[in-house]
Amino acid sequence: MLVISCIKQVPDTTQVQIDPETNTLIREGIPFIVNPYDTHALEEGLSLKDRFGLRPVALSMGPPNAEATLRKACALGVDDAILLSDRCFGGADTLATSRVLASAIEKLAEQEELGIVFCGKQTIDGDTAQVGPGIASRLGLQQLTLVDRIVHLDLEKKRIRVRRKLEGRHEIVEAPLPVMITVVRELNRPRYPTVPMRLEAEDVMVKTWDNSVLGLDVETVGLKGSPTWVSKIFSPERDQGEIIGDGINDPEGTANLLIEKLLSKDLLAI
Ligand SMILES: Cc1cc2nc3c(=O)[nH]c(=O)nc-3n(C[C@H](O)[C@H](O)[C@H](O)COP(=O)(O)OP(=O)(O)OC[C@H]3O[C@@H](n4cnc5c(N)ncnc54)[C@H](O)[C@@H]3O)c2cc1C
Repeated sequence: MLVISCIKQVPDTTQVQIDPETNTLIREGIPFIVNPYDTHALEEGLSLKDRFGLRPVALSMGPPNAEATLRKACALGVDDAILLSDRCFGGADTLATSRVLASAIEKLAEQEELGIVFCGKQTIDGDTAQVGPGIASRLGLQQLTLVDRIVHLDLEKKRIRVRRKLEGRHEIVEAPLPVMITVVRELNRPRYPTVPMRLEAEDVMVKTWDNSVLGLDVETVGLKGSPTWVSKIFSPERDQGEIIGDGINDPEGTANLLIEKLLSKDLLAI
């Protein structure tokens, strides 16, 4: 039975800069990482291989250099890694992204029974949290979001029980397989590849599927198939900040100065 982890290559956000002219991310020279939530999606797939013998596959849609992301998944022990890459997939919004990912999952499920699709809760660049639910709706799968624990998996009855992490409470829910699950960080602790595992992964074939494999209508993928446009991206302007007094040598005087300052700006009521 297949367990598919969707992983996205994202820019290391501490280094991201925005082109003020085009409102797009400046991607040249930026180091990329695996979206942090997706490392947990990957780990859970691998752990289900260890515990239940499921077959873990990593799937990513992105430019050719996203192969590096999938190679990391190979080093960790996935049975297959597939990069969905084609010029016509570029510039996709969440609708078009989930269309391509769902189509690849459907293709894999023609060959082998599908058990679980894992996605991260959200990415750290797009931040929409829409792609996992988008995949589920397209494939008609149950969706269990914000999962922080797999409570029980019954492969005979084909049912899964999970714990969802919600604001101030947990919720236990059950669903039939196949299912789409989005995961949060508390689910597990991702493993690290050893040096020999990394070296071995250098020789592994990462498969690339372009649109000749998926056969999607080019009007429905990439920029053409994306009704959402990011019209503006900007960093909110911040004041320079002001250092008040000498908090180490004169904490009382500094506190008084701060109170005066806040009172003068009408930010404090006494
Ligand atoms: C700064 C920024 C803002 C954006 N804003 C929007 C917006 O408002 N609306 C919009 O429609 N698009 C937006 N996009 C485009 C968006 O990046 C793409 O649609 C992207 O492919 C998926 O959206 P996301 O990153 O928000 O994913 P999310 O929905 O947050 O991702 C959830 C999970 O889905 C899986 N996943 C997502 N993308 C991939 C992938 N390419 N390959 C494999 N798995 C994947 C991962 O498991 C991930 O953890 C934005 C992009 C950027 C960089």
